[in-house]
Amino acid sequence: MNVADSQRLASALERLGYSESAKVEESDVIVLNTCMVRQSAEDKALGRLSSLKPLKEKNPNLVLGLMGCMVGFRGQADIRKKLPYVDVFAPPSDAKPIIDYLIEKQTTEAINDFQPPKGFRWESGTLVLPKNQRKRAVSANIPIVYGCSHACAYCIIPYKRGAERSRDPQEIIEHINSLTEQNVKEVVLLGQIVDRYGLDMEEYPTLAGLLREIDKNEGLKRIRFLTSHPNWITDELLDVVRELPKVMRHIEVPAQAGNDEVLRNMRRGYTDAEYRKLIERIRDRIPGVSIGTDIIVGFPGETDAQFQDTVNQLRDLRLDVVHLARYSPRTGTLSERTMPDDVPDEVKWERFRTIEALQETIATEKHAAMLGATVEVLFEEKKKHRWQGRTENMDLVFVESDLDLRGKLLPVKIEWTGPWSLIGSLAADPLVN
Ligand code: SAH
Repeated sequence: MNVADSQRLASALERLGYSESAKVEESDVIVLNTCMVRQSAEDKALGRLSSLKPLKEKNPNLVLGLMGCMVGFRGQADIRKKLPYVDVFAPPSDAKPIIDYLIEKQTTEAINDFQPPKGFRWESGTLVLPKNQRKRAVSANIPIVYGCSHACAYCIIPYKRGAERSRDPQEIIEHINSLTEQNVKEVVLLGQIVDRYGLDMEEYPTLAGLLREIDKNEGLKRIRFLTSHPNWITDELLDVVRELPKVMRHIEVPAQAGNDEVLRNMRRGYTDAEYRKLIERIRDRIPGVSIGTDIIVGFPGETDAQFQDTVNQLRDLRLDVVHLARYSPRTGTLSERTMPDDVPDEVKWERFRTIEALQETIATEKHAAMLGATVEVLFEEKKKHRWQGRTENMDLVFVESDLDLRGKLLPVKIEWTGPWSLIGSLAADPLVN
């Protein structure tokens, strides 16, 4: 979500005449987009911010902006006082304060003397970069649901991103159309509970309906969506994933824990048995599907036996991807206010490593079964002589090739497999594609 927010800000800045600088020290505008989902993310943002402070002291003309969850949707009074050297603050998913600030600054600095950089042109008072010059990534993140109204006990997101708001379907489709005109091949539809798309509004399509509409875009090769909450996955949605070839057979649906009491304390709204049933239903309805989960270890009060239930769930379900986190108390959340953070750090780490090792074994075995198979890969970028891309199921694949494979969807024969990636070679002439 933050990557999507940053990309949107970057395009807005480009429309104002700014371009990406090679070094932070050479920038006229620096905006830090911040996350607070865990303490480590917050520490990182604060550390980075203090490292930028000397630049601001050296160059008072530098515009320093802070965006995202550290600002929050509610108000900025507190943070303004705490960070007086930051010029402008913007809430998550809303770059307007930054853009307004820069327009005002440009106007007062009489930009009429300013020479437009190469390729730019003036358009009603602002500089515009021609569309086709903007280099787009192969895969674009598209927020379709802003905010969240679920309030899991541990989670700060509803407090920082505000209540759930679905985005207008027509606007989403037009956004995607403009991206595919710029050669984007894959869209990833985003929401904290993406499978609730439309449910907060009257007369909006469901996520399944929206996927059907997006599927009509001819330039698009792949459509993904994340993250789903277990309670909102409908059969209609699963059928669309099975039926539409562009919609990838991969579902991110976090369990968070495998013990019923922990799940209740987390306010997740389902039991271990219900989660297991859901996984069975997804697998029954979508042959070849891959499934990702998020797990939090060391939630307040989690005993060894309760943790073992999470291990058992994963061992039984053998999901494809696990995003792991150690519980981090977030100020103002229900668990932070009412439950002591009583699982010692060493125990959190131990549980973290237990799940990590289990998942490494599962992923190694699952990938080994792909050896010699031919799979379709959408290539995204070249890193250190190797092209990298993903399979339908989100497996990371490397292929060595001198050809320009960017944005191409090609069959690849898998020749090596590991727990976290695969290596293969092109199984067909890419010029034919
Ligand atoms: N809305 C999505 C994603 C939320 S943030 C969802 O509910 O699945 C991504 C992940 O961060 C969550 O799934 C959760 O596993 C983790 N997370 C959120 N708050 C956390 C906290 N306080 N401590 C540790 N992990 C947390």
